[in-house]
Amino acid sequence: KRVLITGGTGFIGTVLCRDLISKGYSLTVLSRQGADTVRALCGRVEVTADLKNLEGHPGFHAVINLAGEGIADKRWTEARKQALRDSRIGVTRRLVATIKSWQNLPEVLVSGSAVGFYGDQRDHLVTEDTQPNAEFTHELCHDWEQEALVLEQDGVRVCLSRTGVVAGRAGGFLQRMILPFRLGLGGRLGSGHQFMPWVHRNDVVAGLIWMLEYDRAHGAYNMVSPNPATNREFTRTLGKVLHRPTLFPAPAPILKLALGEMATLLLTGQKAVPMRLQNEGFEFKFPELRAALEESVTG
Ligand code: NDP
Repeated sequence: KRVLITGGTGFIGTVLCRDLISKGYSLTVLSRQGADTVRALCGRVEVTADLKNLEGHPGFHAVINLAGEGIADKRWTEARKQALRDSRIGVTRRLVATIKSWQNLPEVLVSGSAVGFYGDQRDHLVTEDTQPNAEFTHELCHDWEQEALVLEQDGVRVCLSRTGVVAGRAGGFLQRMILPFRLGLGGRLGSGHQFMPWVHRNDVVAGLIWMLEYDRAHGAYNMVSPNPATNREFTRTLGKVLHRPTLFPAPAPILKLALGEMATLLLTGQKAVPMRLQNEGFEFKFPELRAALEESVTG
């Protein structure tokens, strides 16, 4: 079965591509990078640089849509916010328009979203039914999801992955945190009471494949471990795993000064749980933080 992937060259996408290939799927990756670079990252895949090449295509069995500029890469200026929107909402809109031109519609579209959908939720338990708090990340994720959901009207099964903070080797947010921690300069962020809905990358990849293959899966799923940790718990556990002290808290006013509005990513959070994934039978390989971090910082 042939699957089209956007964002296949990313932190999640590269592992997803390799797992799908080993399960026997044939992949086409939409990427702005050269075909050789994409194959070095993703394995034996076909590469397409432009959705125009796929207009009027016979069709793919499934589409997985993970493209997006890094949310924590640069300060959220108006121009940056527009780039974050364009690379998600704009790419998804164009992707859906292209899919509609195919001779056969896919069985399923699995599309990205994030726990930022809910906005700041303090210590409330967050399930897929929780009322979101309107702020930038909510609007970004909401509009991104809506573009994907358009295909439901055409009878396509649409699944949305509201992904938490992904831990895994070589990349993602842990890569940025690890150096100060290794140097013994790690510490909690702000009060440390804010929740970090973490999830191991292997579970994200397995969850995306579950959505692709389980023909009753549909709608939004919290893609987070069953055990959300506060930033303080997360910090202590990372310190233990690295055998380093965590005595250097980063005060909220300094983070706000350094990062501007983007500091909300670090200073607020969601005590999100994967209610729907668990109710529908998905099993996590890394439900515990310590084991997830140990796997992520070794090797
Ligand atoms: P990465 O940043 O590692 O990769 C994202 C991919 O998106 C890149 O491979 C790139 O593909 C593509 N991309 C980036 N900018 C653009 C653009 N302007 N136009 C088109 N494509 C673009 O992301 P992750 O693998 O970490 O995450 C995948 C998705 O999951 C993202 O949408 C992210 O928002 C979401 N997510 C991730 C979390 C995490 O902790 N990692 C948490 C919550 C959500 P190429 O260069 O090949 O074109």
